[in-house]
Amino acid sequence: MEVPLNLKNTENARRAAPNMKCLADFLVEKEIGEGSFSTVYHGREKEGEKREIALKVCLKKLILKNKMVTYIHREKEALALLSREENAHPGVVTLFATFQDAESLYFVLSYAKYGDLVSLIQKQPDSKLKVGDARYYGANLLSALEHIHKLGIIHRDVKADNLLVKHDGRILLTDFGSSKFLKDYEKDTNSNEETQPTQRRRSFVGTAFFVTPENLEDVRNVNNFQILQLLTGSDMSPASDLWSFSVTLYFFLTGNFPFEDISEYLVFKRIQDVLYRFSDDFPDENARDLIEKMLVKEQKDRLTSDQMKHHKFFESMDFENLQEIEPPRIY
Ligand code: ATP
Repeated sequence: MEVPLNLKNTENARRAAPNMKCLADFLVEKEIGEGSFSTVYHGREKEGEKREIALKVCLKKLILKNKMVTYIHREKEALALLSREENAHPGVVTLFATFQDAESLYFVLSYAKYGDLVSLIQKQPDSKLKVGDARYYGANLLSALEHIHKLGIIHRDVKADNLLVKHDGRILLTDFGSSKFLKDYEKDTNSNEETQPTQRRRSFVGTAFFVTPENLEDVRNVNNFQILQLLTGSDMSPASDLWSFSVTLYFFLTGNFPFEDISEYLVFKRIQDVLYRFSDDFPDENARDLIEKMLVKEQKDRLTSDQMKHHKFFESMDFENLQEIEPPRIY
């Protein structure tokens, strides 16, 4: 869905709010990707540091049509909090500015030259990562998750598709549209409002693999259609992100997902029963042990992020100095 860039509209918006950024402040170079209701462009600031940026343009009419208003608010709120100087983390995408005009909402984000990690992994031999590379990306993802959890944010959509690779090979966690502030939890579990937008509920292709057991109620007595209604996310916590982290680590090391089947319904049943296996050629015993300790039904029985950092799989990783480690060159 191509989103037209209308310079005149944003100039009008600037007249209404002179201190805000607008489209005219950026050189927009080329389109780099599309989401369900947005188009992302590569660009550059015209003034100041002239930083490279990614400009995410979301069409208001598509947001309204797909009931994505809450989704967009979550993304903006979470990113705004995480982009404050005192909260910045090198492994989390930065939101430099937001603005809007009559047709669109604009997010000005840090630019990741090599796009998402899944696309890069798919270009590797056997479409998977070497153990050392998986350890590096895993450690960086874990560090970013620990950071956002400390700030009271659960990501809720952790997967390699939401990791972007910068020009220097370092990764950024992105896509906070499904995130939750921990303080909101009580409130949201008691409501059936549209915090889970319809578009998201229906767009589980490729994401079903990362759903957590606590994201599902009883899937035994329902049909394939009803299952979508069960994706409530009502009982999710930081431990849920750590479950998805482990699914992601399994994916890094094998190119597959631990819970795969011929339909989403069967995938969800497997997740609920925690039915998965490691192939005989699974490449690393320590990674296997870590994943086994994380893919556990009860959240309280999973390792905490601190315990994960001290697990044997991450023994060689200096979590205090991750920025000193040379990233893999998989691009
Ligand atoms: P959906 O909205 O359907 O979940 P999405 O999250 O991939 O999809 P966008 O956030 O609009 O949608 O991103 C579209 C594509 O643009 C991404 O797949 C990615 O390749 C690219 N992209 C997004 N953000 C950046 C960024 N900061 N730097 C570089 N590329 C980006």
